[in-house]
Amino acid sequence: MSIFEHRSFDDHEHVAFCHDKITGLQAIIAVHNSNLGQAMGGCRMFGYPSGDEALNDVLRLSRGMTYKSAAANLPVGGAKSVILGDPRKHKTDELMRAMGRFIDSLGGLYVGAEDSGMQERDMKIMAQETQHVAGFALQEGERGDPSPATAYGVFIGLQKAVEHKLKTSDLKGVRIAIQGLGNVGYRLATLLHEAGAELVVSDIFAANADRAIHDFNATLVAPEDIFSQPVDVVAPCALGSVIDDVVLNQLQAKVIAGSANNQLAHDDLGMALKARGILYAPDYVLNAGGIIDVHYQRQGMAYAEAHHHITSSIKGTLDEVFRKSDMSGRSTNVIADEVARHRFDPDFHSVDDVA
Ligand code: NAD
Repeated sequence: MSIFEHRSFDDHEHVAFCHDKITGLQAIIAVHNSNLGQAMGGCRMFGYPSGDEALNDVLRLSRGMTYKSAAANLPVGGAKSVILGDPRKHKTDELMRAMGRFIDSLGGLYVGAEDSGMQERDMKIMAQETQHVAGFALQEGERGDPSPATAYGVFIGLQKAVEHKLKTSDLKGVRIAIQGLGNVGYRLATLLHEAGAELVVSDIFAANADRAIHDFNATLVAPEDIFSQPVDVVAPCALGSVIDDVVLNQLQAKVIAGSANNQLAHDDLGMALKARGILYAPDYVLNAGGIIDVHYQRQGMAYAEAHHHITSSIKGTLDEVFRKSDMSGRSTNVIADEVARHRFDPDFHSVDDVA
């Protein structure tokens, strides 16, 4: 099978492979689509069991970035990169420098940012080799970590989904179950607590869970029980594929709104959730705050500008998605894909266009 017939190829514009013999770097950069602008996306380091799994992951993630940036009304294309290897065992400064040179070799086709397995320090080392990396503070006082912006965007999106489904713009007393209290989940919990929501939380890392109990008077539940709680909203902020056929039948919440990428284990769950009267706020529409902030950082613009863009674009896109889903009876995840695709693919026509 050639790369062009790969199950996740989906018309990628550019896929580059790197094997650096001296450092042992094995990496892939995938540029899905640059119709809207220079392609940007995270660089992930993970101990993939095989090269094919790494290729599949980078192609899926890169495609997802095209949709995310389009849904966020950013003049940015979609791309992603992966480094094959366990970040705890295989990461060295030399490896990071080699990745920086690999990114540089594409001459700006791809701009890399931090993703799982990578830290701000790694991005700074890469930046010694290329200017095509973003989303970290080179000097004290600069912004960097996009997680606060991501959390803010999820908060705005969650509020919008609650307003649409529960007919209230006030989060006071609304019960929300958050899975994962890391960089995004903890900050989201802070915003929700300030807005008066009642929080139920779970985290496999005890220190993160304890902090939420202490700071927000949250109720802690076991990780396997988080999605069956008697709450109004569930906010997945840990892992992908958490909403599967089993969880579907356990949910008591009426809204799903969180930061995790690829929350639905498969696309048909969007329709199954709708049939159960559960409003799914599409993940990549909600979690675009980080990429919006990184884009504004690259333009040298203040957070206030990014903040304004996050608020208006997440609210606006969700409005459109919810309205079209209500009118057509189709699921929010499918409608979100169509709304995004309309924005980056001039040749695309959706079912609604034809009807
Ligand atoms: P993180 O690693 O800082 O936090 C994840 C948290 O989830 C950790 O505290 C971890 O202990 C916990 N966790 C892991 N498995 C769990 C389980 N089974 N049950 C309960 N808790 C569990 O990651 P993050 O940066 O906060 O990102 C969270 C999610 O949002 C990820 O899916 C990420 O891809 C997505 N996301 C993050 C950003 C960003 O700006 N950081 C942007 C877009 C999307």
